[in-house]
Amino acid sequence: MCKAEKASKCAKEKPDAKPSATQACPVVKKIKVLKVEVVVDAPSDKQVMMNKLDTKVLATATMTYRDDSTDTEDLDKLPKIRFTYTDPGNNNTKHNKSYKYDGTNRLGKRDNTAAVFWEAHPESAATSSDSFNTMAKADAKPQPGSGETKTAVAKIWFKPSGVGGDNFTIDASVYKPDGTTKICDASSSEIEVWREINFNNIYTMDSESYIDAATKDAEINPAFKPKAYVEYTQGTVTKLASSLDVKYIGLYKSGGGSLVWPTDFSPAKLESTPNQLAPTATELSDYKGTNSAKKAAAKTKIEAKAQLWFSAIITAYRKSLDAWFTDAGISTASNTLLAVKYYHPKLSGQSDGATTFWPAGIQINVANPGSGLTNNKHPDDTTWREVQGFNRGKIVVIFKNYGTAARLKIICRHEIGHATKSEFERDLFGTGDHSSSKLMTPYGSASTFSAADIKILRGIA
Ligand SMILES: [Zn+2]
Repeated sequence: MCKAEKASKCAKEKPDAKPSATQACPVVKKIKVLKVEVVVDAPSDKQVMMNKLDTKVLATATMTYRDDSTDTEDLDKLPKIRFTYTDPGNNNTKHNKSYKYDGTNRLGKRDNTAAVFWEAHPESAATSSDSFNTMAKADAKPQPGSGETKTAVAKIWFKPSGVGGDNFTIDASVYKPDGTTKICDASSSEIEVWREINFNNIYTMDSESYIDAATKDAEINPAFKPKAYVEYTQGTVTKLASSLDVKYIGLYKSGGGSLVWPTDFSPAKLESTPNQLAPTATELSDYKGTNSAKKAAAKTKIEAKAQLWFSAIITAYRKSLDAWFTDAGISTASNTLLAVKYYHPKLSGQSDGATTFWPAGIQINVANPGSGLTNNKHPDDTTWREVQGFNRGKIVVIFKNYGTAARLKIICRHEIGHATKSEFERDLFGTGDHSSSKLMTPYGSASTFSAADIKILRGIA
């Protein structure tokens, strides 16, 4: 039987009696609440990562009280702690203005009476008058300790919205039994909804580090922070086996190492029958001779062979490329950045691309087959065209001749922008997850996201 019950029983038995010296009502001890404090279990930078929408934030309220009060205004028993939240700035994204992520649910919770913001913590039974929407009342559990003042702790789970930039404070208050007279209250520090991407899909040739440097947090985060409320962290950079560390992946030999350029790629080496690719002695002498009809005919034949040789080189480097990727064993299914050295001697703008297989004056089309373009050059020219990178599935290969640091930054930020799609709920930037302006255009036309894409990253519809 508690002191409060004793008191009421006494009052009931002797409703009009004044306590006498010989028959005193027992001295009633009441609960006097002195203060309440509340803390949220969030990092010091207040970010709550909401990639997973069932993420819960622990709020702990500590009530300080005395239980020896004789003031009849005080409480008969330890009160519950009432938890509510505030939206500092009153600018959180409304439910119906937030991204609908699975055809039904939305990231935003503001102005949604069906949203559940609270969940009872196992250590504190809780009730709510509005299905845990705006408020919850949790039992405060007395803590061990002696002395005049005592403490009781109530815990509750807070379930924020999923829109980047939404912010909340958790408010704890203690009321008298009438439910309307507030005894004391307190607010927590602010928490802010963020999403994060820990980008592990970075691969590099053992001897290279340009992509490690270009994907560091300081290089990427300015695109995301603070406006998009996305925190990028560079994950593990995977170094590839040294057997894959060749100057040109287009010369790679299955199992490791490199074919010999240009010796292994002479017309005679690449042909399947004699003089299929290599000009005959007669063709060469006719071409060098003074008989203009013979010279023209020989030129046509040699150019046709040179064009076939060009095709054979392409077939060869594609085979090498396949062998390199097979040996590297990198999945093409997830957004990946890959640093290698160069593509191929004829495609990299390096000085060792020149060959000496063909007579002067021969011209072939060295444009990328399938491009429909014409780019006539001498086949022995050092560089047919320069390739700085390409896509293979979701792998973006960035060659060492990537060009400028500014371009490399755009490529890395663009690919990491795509990769956020599988890290947290957001809309597509557009068709093919590409946007109509700035960083996420198919080419990547700026180093920062457009305002519309920032909204998409936050989860605002
Ligand atoms: Zn893209």
